[in-house]
Amino acid sequence: MKIRFWGVRGSIPAPGPETIRYGGNTSCVSIHTAGGELVIIDMGTGLMHLGNHLMAGAFGKGTGRATILLSHTHWDHIQGLGFFPPVFVAGNRFTVLGPGDSPDVLEQILEGQMDPNFSPLQSLKNFSAEFDVRACVCGAGFDAGGLRISAREHPHGATTALGFRIEEAGRSFVYASDVGYPAGGAPPDAIAFYRGADTLLHDTTYRPEDQATRRNRGFSSIDEAAEVAVAAKVKRLVMFHYDQDYTDDDVDQLAESCRRALDERGGQAIALVPAREGDELEI
Ligand SMILES: [Zn+2]
Repeated sequence: MKIRFWGVRGSIPAPGPETIRYGGNTSCVSIHTAGGELVIIDMGTGLMHLGNHLMAGAFGKGTGRATILLSHTHWDHIQGLGFFPPVFVAGNRFTVLGPGDSPDVLEQILEGQMDPNFSPLQSLKNFSAEFDVRACVCGAGFDAGGLRISAREHPHGATTALGFRIEEAGRSFVYASDVGYPAGGAPPDAIAFYRGADTLLHDTTYRPEDQATRRNRGFSSIDEAAEVAVAAKVKRLVMFHYDQDYTDDDVDQLAESCRRALDERGGQAIALVPAREGDELEI
């Protein structure tokens, strides 16, 4: 599978000259499978750029199909939806799998951001494409877009978010953004969920000293990401969801510190990649 980063920033878009290298768009990752299918994780503002890119192919002709995995519905994970050109092309079909027991509740939340007070689109019903919202079942795995996927609910401040483990032909990619572990660190079932992944994309919102004063927001530090990557014996750790106030130079330093944190914990063999808008990884 091919992973591409369309938005790597946390909480709110942060465009500007100081964030131009890593990018200022919020969470959105695409997966193109070996079988030619498309899975999208999260609908932050990066989704707009993915959409513009997709319009050159099947999605511009109304024959596009994609599965969208939604970790949770905070703004930085849904705000790209109303600016995603393929939803305005009749014939395209999207299946959204997101948190909660009820697809109706999830659909109402997504509908809420289309309210005329927030958006000129007024309603999801104004989309021309088919947009099927379903609740994602945690625990048992499911098949989507030609991939084997399992979901795990993790704590995220006052709420929760979903992590996803995605497998294709013996290769594995784990997406674990927007996670804030309890004071004792990641629980054993989280480590089991990440175990042996070829690539673990993990929340690295903060430097440890910044996280210490913002623990209730439900994000991880680079040290916590390094800790779980070593404990789960993953092959590659991808840094993701940088705090909106961090400049490119800050993210460079985060990556240096995260490398040190891995090495200090015996994770010298783990490759480290700071996610950058536009970059692609083969898994
Ligand atoms: Zn977020």
